[in-house]
Amino acid sequence: MIITLDGQSGTGKSTLATLIAQKLGFKCLNTGMIYRALTHYLYSNGILPESIEERGHCLNDIDIEILFKDNNQFVIINKLDCTPYVSSPEVQKYVSVYSQILELREKVTRIQRAFALENDIVIEGRDIGTHVFPNADYKFFITCDIRVRAQRRLEDLKQSGQNITLEQVIQSLKTRDMLDSTRVFSPLKRADDAIDIDTSNSTIEQSVEQILSYIGN
Ligand code: C5P
Repeated sequence: MIITLDGQSGTGKSTLATLIAQKLGFKCLNTGMIYRALTHYLYSNGILPESIEERGHCLNDIDIEILFKDNNQFVIINKLDCTPYVSSPEVQKYVSVYSQILELREKVTRIQRAFALENDIVIEGRDIGTHVFPNADYKFFITCDIRVRAQRRLEDLKQSGQNITLEQVIQSLKTRDMLDSTRVFSPLKRADDAIDIDTSNSTIEQSVEQILSYIGN
C-alpha cells in the first residue's frame, strides 16, 4: 500500500508520516531529506546547479543509498553520510534551487519508486501524489498557517544550534514555497484526488487520528 503526504515545509508532514507509518507498521520515506542530502553533497563538492543543467550526466556517478537504523532515515551519497548536514544554512538556502533540476528529480523519483516495490510505505514530499505515485492508495495534502509553520521550524533550528529570528524563517519559507510551487518540473501542487488536512489548530495526535480515520484504522 502507498500513502502519500504532500505539502509545504513546516506543515508537520514528516512527523505525521513517521507516526502513521509506525501505527500501520509501514516504512516511512522522507523525500525532502534525499533532496537535502543531495544538495549538501553537490554544493560541498563544487557541483553547482548550472553545471548540472549543462551536463546532467554528471549525476550518473552519484550513488544514493537510503538506510534505516532504529526507524531513523540516513542518506548516504557516494559512501558519505550526508544526514548530519540536511539542516545546514547552505542546504536551507539552495535545496529548492537544486530541486528544480529535471535530471536530479528523475534520479530521486526512480529511488522512490524502487523503494515502494519492496515495502508498504508512507511517503512525504511535494510531488508524490501528483507525479511520483499518481495511483497511490491514499493521498493527503497537508496545509498550515505560515506563522505556525515558521514557529515550528524555528524551534527545530534553534535545537540544532542555529541563531535565527522568526521573521528570517518566515522569509525563507516564503521563498522556498514560491520556488517549489512555480518550478517547471513537478511543482508542489495538490493532487485532484487528495484529502485536505489543515494542521494549524490541531495537535499532532489529532492530525494522526484524522488521517487514520480515512484509511479505516
Ligand atoms: O520537506 P523538506 O522541507 O525537507 O524539503 C526540502 C526541499 O526539498 C523542498 O523545499 C523542495 O525544494 C525539495 N523537495 C522536492 N520534492 C520533494 C521533497 C522535497 O522538491 N518530494
